Amino acid sequence: MKTKKLLIIAGSDPSGGAGIQTDIKVATSHKVYASAVITCLTAQNTKKVFAIHNPPISFLKAQLEAVLDDISFDAIKIGMLGNAEIIEVVAKILNKKAPKTKIILDPVMVATSGDILLENDAIQALKKFAKQAFLITPNIDEAEILSKMKIKNVADMKIAASKIQKIGAKNVFIKGGHLKMENLDKKSKIVGAKIKTQKITNILLDEKGDFFEITNNKIAVKNIHGTGCALASAISCNLACKKSLLKSVKNANNYIYQQILQNAKIGNGSLVLKHF
Ligand code: PLP
Repeated sequence: MKTKKLLIIAGSDPSGGAGIQTDIKVATSHKVYASAVITCLTAQNTKKVFAIHNPPISFLKAQLEAVLDDISFDAIKIGMLGNAEIIEVVAKILNKKAPKTKIILDPVMVATSGDILLENDAIQALKKFAKQAFLITPNIDEAEILSKMKIKNVADMKIAASKIQKIGAKNVFIKGGHLKMENLDKKSKIVGAKIKTQKITNILLDEKGDFFEITNNKIAVKNIHGTGCALASAISCNLACKKSLLKSVKNANNYIYQQILQNAKIGNGSLVLKHF
């Protein structure tokens, strides 16, 4: 079978729990070949982001041109971009060199630890770039910023998804994992030590304007890191393998659910996903 190729454009997390390191692991576990262009370097561990270094913009251009002039990709996954200048360069080069390839944009803004991963003045540039995206995958906090509204429940998620689609992304997938527990189904109760029957609802709004609710049982793990990166990568791998959008999102949702159940404690902070 022909090798499917995913280009990942994202930031480095040297602890391997998030960012490009996780994205590559997800691709490998999906039997998709990963190429990776690094936008920013973070100095972080499972507890905290200590520093961010942006390599010279000319070097980002050189990386993008090198891979895009040589390899034709089945999909492109975008993670941490860091600032407006990086967003603009990525947008311009992709527009020129891969105008037909599906872009999955994870609008990374803030880490689970609360550390800022996107400069404040870059939101406008990100919104402009969203017009090039086949799919955008915000979590609740990012969806609130992009839609300029508070999201308290699933009905709000749908309104926010419509607003984000108006920004220009063809399809919108809002991850519900960060919706506050008190807003979830009140009838749910704890069964066993690990799994609550509370549901997490993710919302897909497709380009035809149809909404799909993709639900999971809420797994009671407190701090887990890298799930957003991994979910967007898993969707990207499915799309690279020519699965439909709905199938891709459902498969990725199941994959992350299983990975969260098998989480690992590798340091003293957040838990991580292993992808094996
Ligand atoms: N570090 C990098 C390089 C990332 O790309 C991301 C998220 O995309 C994070 C950290 C934060 O991941 P999380 O919010 O799961 O902690």
